[in-house]
Amino acid sequence: MNTIYNNLEINNYNNLLKVEGRFRCDKCKSSRKFFCYKCSCPHPEYADIVPRVELPIQIDIIKHRQEVFGKSTSSHAKIISPDQVNIYEYPEIPDYSAETGDVILIFPSSKSVSISSLFKGISTFDFKENYGLEKGFFIGTLLKKNLDEVMSDSDRERLHRNGEHDEKIYSRDNLPFKRAVFIDSTWKQCRSIYKDPRINSIKSCVIQNRKTKFWRTQKGAPDWYLSTIEAIHQFLLEVHVSAWGIHRNYYDKSLNDLELDTSFIPPTKIFDDNDNGEKSMCKPYNGQYDNLLFFFSFLHCIIHSLDDVNGKLKMIEK
Ligand SMILES: [Zn+2]
Repeated sequence: MNTIYNNLEINNYNNLLKVEGRFRCDKCKSSRKFFCYKCSCPHPEYADIVPRVELPIQIDIIKHRQEVFGKSTSSHAKIISPDQVNIYEYPEIPDYSAETGDVILIFPSSKSVSISSLFKGISTFDFKENYGLEKGFFIGTLLKKNLDEVMSDSDRERLHRNGEHDEKIYSRDNLPFKRAVFIDSTWKQCRSIYKDPRINSIKSCVIQNRKTKFWRTQKGAPDWYLSTIEAIHQFLLEVHVSAWGIHRNYYDKSLNDLELDTSFIPPTKIFDDNDNGEKSMCKPYNGQYDNLLFFFSFLHCIIHSLDDVNGKLKMIEK
């Protein structure tokens, strides 16, 4: 079976091809094909082949009420990482005010910083200092730039002196944040959710551009507008690389599958393969979260391997 990700660490899903007919979901009693996207549970007879992925932080997904469950990829994350992923339906969302400092929102706003910047403590820059930029620069135009490039020499020195740069040893317990919030909706709905003070008061950050492989593209959206599951995978990849680096093999080979700009990975974060490709949490990235793309990759394949794409979509999303 063809796959869009030849070099990622994704379990074999050929057994899912054997699924015949539909099953009745235990919780909502609806008829489903491979999994229940509403209740986030797998087909009971095939649950064993669905991978489980442990994440270093909690992921909250806020879904717009009008967003159709069947068209969303949020449930993939909940099925594969059930203990660390929660899906909420806006406006019923958790109160994050008590967790300020531990929560980040993945959203491109004029105040957003990159993930690697958060690890360097750059998010604490005072806005009045213009993010360490020379006078005359406007921060809003520099979102696409790595903040490292525009950091003043004195800031760079300060980071080195404080030992905040690269030398800090991270475990799951001392990451710069404990929870990440994603908004799962169309771009238009997304803007309306972001207007909610409970949401826009959360520190925001952006992920690197990468080309989407989603079979549903949004009208007028650029090709780096990712589906939710791709965005979560990209986010975790950046968190992991910032905290624990990346394996050279993975960097050289697997990243090509993702079609992303790898300039966010400094050479000091690339490590040679000297531990037999171990995939534990705090080791350099070697595919630890790739299985989050298990259903995404599988569905992509079956949808694109058949002539009747629309009929196939209906079968899955019904
Ligand atoms: Zn269900």
